[in-house]
Formats: sequence, C-alpha cells, structure tokens
Amino acid sequence: MQVSRRSFLEYCGLSAAFIGLGSSKLGLLAEALAAPNAPSVIWLHGSSCTGDSISFLNRISDAFPATVADVLTGAVNLVFHATLMTPAGDAAVSELKRVYDTGNYVLVLEGGVPTAFRGGACVVYSLNGQETTYMQAVQEMSARALAVVCAGTCASFGGIPASGGNPTGVKSVRALTGRATINISGCPANPDWVVWAIVQLLTGTPVELDADGRPTALYAKRLSGAAAPSLIHDKCPRNNLVNPGAPPEATSFTNCDGRCTIQLGCRGPFTKSRCDGQWNAKATDPNSPPNQRWRNNWCVGVNANCHGCVEKAFPGPQSFYEPYVL
Ligand code: SF4
Ligand code: SF4
Repeated sequence: MQVSRRSFLEYCGLSAAFIGLGSSKLGLLAEALAAPNAPSVIWLHGSSCTGDSISFLNRISDAFPATVADVLTGAVNLVFHATLMTPAGDAAVSELKRVYDTGNYVLVLEGGVPTAFRGGACVVYSLNGQETTYMQAVQEMSARALAVVCAGTCASFGGIPASGGNPTGVKSVRALTGRATINISGCPANPDWVVWAIVQLLTGTPVELDADGRPTALYAKRLSGAAAPSLIHDKCPRNNLVNPGAPPEATSFTNCDGRCTIQLGCRGPFTKSRCDGQWNAKATDPNSPPNQRWRNNWCVGVNANCHGCVEKAFPGPQSFYEPYVL
C-alpha cells in the first residue's frame, strides 16, 4: 500500500500523544518530507531474529495508515530493507551504493555485528558477485551517514546474539564503530519509537541521549515530581506502593492475574522505560478511543514478566523466571 505524505502526517498526529510530537514538530515534518533533498533511509539487518522488522509489520491500527511498514515504504524514502523493498539483487544494491555516495541518508541497523571470521558469519548483499559482510557495511555506511539509529537491543547492545558464548563474536554497533548511535533498544524495538527517532532526525531536532545512547524522552522519562527517571516498576498497577489495593505477590503463574510477579523473575524494578500502555495489542476495553484500540497494553498487562529487554544487561546469564539479581 502506498502512503502519501499527508497520511504519514496523520499517522504522526495520531501517535503524537504516544511519541511526544507537538503540532510545531508536525509542521516541520511536513516541510522536511516535501523538501527535494530529504534524506533517504537505509535499513540493514545483521545478527538478529528480524523481530524489529516483524514488530513494524505487526503494528496495526484502526486508523489509516494501517501499518508502520506502510509509513516507511510509502512516505519516507526507504531505499534498502531486505524484507520490505521491491527491487532485489544488483539493482537494489546499486541504488544503495548511489545513496551511500551522496551521504544523504539515515542508517537504521537491526542486529548485532558478528566480528569473528572477519565478519564472514553475516553477508548482507553482493554486487557483481562480490559479497559484503554486515561488519564491513556497518563500518563503511555508519562513517558517512547523517545519523545511525539502532533498532532493537541486538544492534544497540549485542542482545541475545552476543550472549551465551556465541562463537561469531557479536558486538553492538557502537562497540564496533565507536560512533554515537541513537539506540532504540527493545526486544523487539517499539515500532512507534523507531519512527519517532526518524522523525526527530528528519526535522533536525536534537535528540538527548542517556548514558546508553537511548533517547531520554522515551526511556528516562521522569514521573511528575520525581527526581530520577522512572522504572517499569514505578508505573506498574501491580506495585503495592503505586496501587495500595494491589493483591499480594504471585508465587505461581497459575494464579498471577493482577499480582506482582517479582518472585517469578519480573525485572521491572531494574528497567528504565516507558512501556506501559505503549504496545500494540488489541484493547480489552471496547470503549477505548478509536486511535487507541490497538495499542494500550504491555508485557505486564498480559501477565508476562518484564524481562528488561531494553537494558544493556539483557538477556544476562540468569533465568527469566527466577528472582532477578542485578
Ligand atoms: S509485576 Fe514487575 S513491574 Fe509490576 S510491581 Fe511487580 S516487579 Fe514491579
Ligand atoms: S515491559 Fe519490559 S520486557 Fe516488556 S517491552 Fe518493556 S522493557 Fe521489554
């Protein structure tokens, strides 16, 4: 489905409350999208499960455009994305190279970088029979990009592919290149937050980052009056301090409806993020406003632990289902 710039702006308007876009920013975005020299987006995949792209494809709403993938392929000039683009083979790579030569692009990276075997564990494309590894592509393209956005925890911090003694030597993009990256961590990344980052870059808005390269607007948000950035735990309705009427902690998943699951491994007290109500899931409340029917839930809301998937320490050596020790 093709999405016009106007539809993209409508999408951003509907998402404004979630991703913090004011009306002045929407005006800037309209101008940026209409500019003849608007930057392109190049999206490469490395060592990952492609969950961040799947998260994009699954982000659906009652409002048009229906998916975030529509937004990127229709309104923003996405020149390369292995699973979304129409061209293939040398034609696709030639276009990628052309845009690379201009330097007028935002580089989105999904997946950690395998560095063992001279990067040979992950080949991203070939041109005229010559293969390019993800490691090589990340090094070359990040050096020239206007900005680098890491979509997901694997590109941001290494994530699951860097854990458990993986022999391919996976590193984060920042550890490999030394370049500052905008880390939209999450396993998977929240699709609206990736769009948020792209919108900030297109409109030339500075993005304040925390020590781990994550936008403070998305991850280190303070609750009103609080001195420190809020944790998942601080907003959780199962927290007895937040909700004094909350039932006692659960000791089994067979009886955890509405109960705190800290004894079952919840990492909410260690996780800095504003996930509450930010995820794409069908609302259980039939009276939800039309533009929120598909995204007012989160992990804790469906009786799953917070696994701390946005954190550098994720997944870590511990079981997800034992009390977490930092
Ligand atoms: S379920 Fe998790 S986030 Fe919620 S109160 Fe318990 S430990 Fe905190
Ligand atoms: S609630 Fe926890 S596990 Fe779920 S997306 Fe947020 S940080 Fe990740």
